[in-house]
Amino acid sequence: MTDRTLPFTRDQLEAVAAQVPTPFHLYDEKGIRDNARRFREAFSWVPGGFTNYFAVKALPNPYIIDIVKSEGMGADCSSLGELLLAEACGITGENIMFSSNNTPAKEFQKAFELGAIINLDDLSHIDYLETALGGKLPELLCFRYNPGKLKEGNVLIGKPEEAKYGFTHPQILEGYRRLKAKGVKRFGLHTMVASNELSTEYFVETARMLFELVVEVHKMTGIRMEFVNLGGGIGVPYRPEHKPVDLELLGQRVQQTYREIIVPAGLDPLRVVTENGRMVTGPYGYLVSRVLHKKSTYKEYLGLDASMANLMRPGMYGAYHHITVPGKEKGPRKIYDVTGSLCENNDKFAIDREIPDPAIGDLVVIHESGAHGHSMGFNYNAKLRSAEVLWQEGKFHQIRRAETYADLFATIDYPGLKK
Ligand SMILES: *Cc1c(COP(=O)(O)O)cnc(C)c1O
Repeated sequence: MTDRTLPFTRDQLEAVAAQVPTPFHLYDEKGIRDNARRFREAFSWVPGGFTNYFAVKALPNPYIIDIVKSEGMGADCSSLGELLLAEACGITGENIMFSSNNTPAKEFQKAFELGAIINLDDLSHIDYLETALGGKLPELLCFRYNPGKLKEGNVLIGKPEEAKYGFTHPQILEGYRRLKAKGVKRFGLHTMVASNELSTEYFVETARMLFELVVEVHKMTGIRMEFVNLGGGIGVPYRPEHKPVDLELLGQRVQQTYREIIVPAGLDPLRVVTENGRMVTGPYGYLVSRVLHKKSTYKEYLGLDASMANLMRPGMYGAYHHITVPGKEKGPRKIYDVTGSLCENNDKFAIDREIPDPAIGDLVVIHESGAHGHSMGFNYNAKLRSAEVLWQEGKFHQIRRAETYADLFATIDYPGLKK
């Protein structure tokens, strides 16, 4: 097994760590941009222009949103906070996809005020939205489809019929009829049935399912769909043996499917959009940490200054994140449980993992932390959330400082609490 390469050297990392306390998340701007361009290129055939709406929840930092915006992406938001981030970055109007569920009225109101494309999750939300907007509906609305038993979900997202999201097949036909009766003029169709999926064909089949539904909706209601949103869910090759989704092949295969289904039905042009987050930033983030302790009991432990509060995925899902020791790639290796300092035994970044054997004080890099890393961070055990740093080919820019105790205790008014 060969170790992964890093876009920075050990000395460069030490130079960042001299300015920013470890642990911190480091994001590689060039990696994000190159990937975004490959993605856009792969779907450049789409009539009316392809857009990936970046799922903000993956990495909700405005400096990152600025980068993906400048690469042509919109924002996929599912909460008021995410809408505020998009707005701050100058993403408004139909460059925002509001794909929420169980949504409060004021979030719909904000989405409408920004001119976002509102993607409804349930039939009953048509009336709810109309009431929230004072008796009117936007001229464009989208529905989220849940195919139920008609399509197998992937492992991470589970069976569609057990997922809380989306309209059933009969409901979606009924929904478009209702919209039409209420005077809505423009229509979109969305689904999201996979998460962290690495099979190209899975996404091609999802596109086929939506294209067929576009044709069916047209037959049943006369509605001509303006766009389909294939959702997010393109996976990250977390394990060394994983292969990334071949974006070029995916683009070609979706185009073939479009030509087979949409063109003969006379429904071309139809825009195709996506709302991926994980694949946009995930592989380009690195959690940088230092070795605090080595402990030898029934097992060998490597104790880092990062914990599950900085990256929850291994503890929460047993997710694999590759670990390297910059500068010691070729050195002797040893099997460790790599741990944090929370009072929870699942606070482990790796279990029985063979890695290069670091010394106390060495930097250790945990890979693919760029999605659901810092954003899933939390304050359990009164831990402070870390800084975020942008790596710009030799230069670096802190895009979020580390929390302080004043931040942590800001909402508690208690005499004598040291902030
Ligand atoms: C989470 C989510 C996404 C993005 O998923 P990724 O796995 O980050 O690509 C897109 N749309 C919806 C509705 C989501 O909930």
